Amino acid sequence: SSSVLNVDQLSIAYDGRNGSHSAVSGVSLHIGQGEALGLVGESGSGKSSVALAILRYLPKNARIAASALEFQGREIRDLSAEQLRQLRGNHIATVYQHPGAALNPSMTIGRQITETIMRHRPVRHDEARARAAELLEHVRVSRPDRVLDLYPHELSGGMQQRANIAIAIALDPSLLVLDEPTTALDASVQSEIIAILHDLRKDHKTSVLLISHDINMIRRSCDRVAVMQSGTVVESGVAADVFDNPRHAYTKALIASIPALNYTKRDGRLAETDGPGLAAHPTANDEAAGARKERQIAIACKGISHAFGSQPVLSDIDLDIGQGETFGLIGESG
Ligand code: ATP
Ligand code: MG
Repeated sequence: SSSVLNVDQLSIAYDGRNGSHSAVSGVSLHIGQGEALGLVGESGSGKSSVALAILRYLPKNARIAASALEFQGREIRDLSAEQLRQLRGNHIATVYQHPGAALNPSMTIGRQITETIMRHRPVRHDEARARAAELLEHVRVSRPDRVLDLYPHELSGGMQQRANIAIAIALDPSLLVLDEPTTALDASVQSEIIAILHDLRKDHKTSVLLISHDINMIRRSCDRVAVMQSGTVVESGVAADVFDNPRHAYTKALIASIPALNYTKRDGRLAETDGPGLAAHPTANDEAAGARKERQIAIACKGISHAFGSQPVLSDIDLDIGQGETFGLIGESG
């Protein structure tokens, strides 16, 4: 397949008060048309720095060296300001971790998508709006016309992230870079986003660079994976091969560190499986038992209901949180 991204021997160092700090050294990555590459590794291993280098978004204190940093055969470092604007606007699209942060809170989703389209394409507003609805359909939004008129705060995190993807793909980019797109969201959103990426690659031959420390997501959505540790790629190959037969000690450790899934879904309900579950942490339980004896309520809520217009959002929620207690609130997106 023709080369979309070619990164050869990329090194990045950040200048700081105590001298220069190497963040990435000698990283080589290759992505062909329609191909998805996963980039996995622990926090601080340099994944985001690589993505920023590709878009030339690295901060001023970053120094970069590479044998090649090419997008569709052209050296990214040689692009003029106008070519760079084209690259970021038209050719490489990005989706980040916090879906809300990337959206403009004072503009409807529809306006954000149509403005993106109209900034780069000579189309009328009604055409752009029709395209926006179509894009929301591509990202599996069930009632696009309704969602076009909503503001970001009226959407769940999962819906916001789908809106971000709709904006990202509005100009039919050749490469979509996603940096931890589901880390802030729950598992049901993750499956949706994996399906969306699958559709995009099938229908539009979009290439994907997916940064995540979620091995399962990479395995389900990428052809190949590169495993990073302390700024270098320690292992790379076909995703299924790397995860089934990890060669490098770090990859093995990464796989072993996936939090044991003590809960699996059965009949649509969460059920505890064998193996150490919550009961394996006696100290936490003992402390909870102690705390229960003399429980001082810090926060108490009773019968909270809330609606947007006629749409009920919360109904009759009761909860209380004791002093020094940690209270978990869990549920699907939306
Ligand atoms: P995470 O999984 O937490 O997002 P990452 O793999 O994306 O981590 P980077 O954000 O690329 O890692 O950071 C790599 C290294 O570079 C880290 O040591 C980080 O502290 C350092 N670094 C990142 N950005 C800067 C910056 N602007 N100035 C100085 N050092 C930085
Ligand atoms: Mg990062």
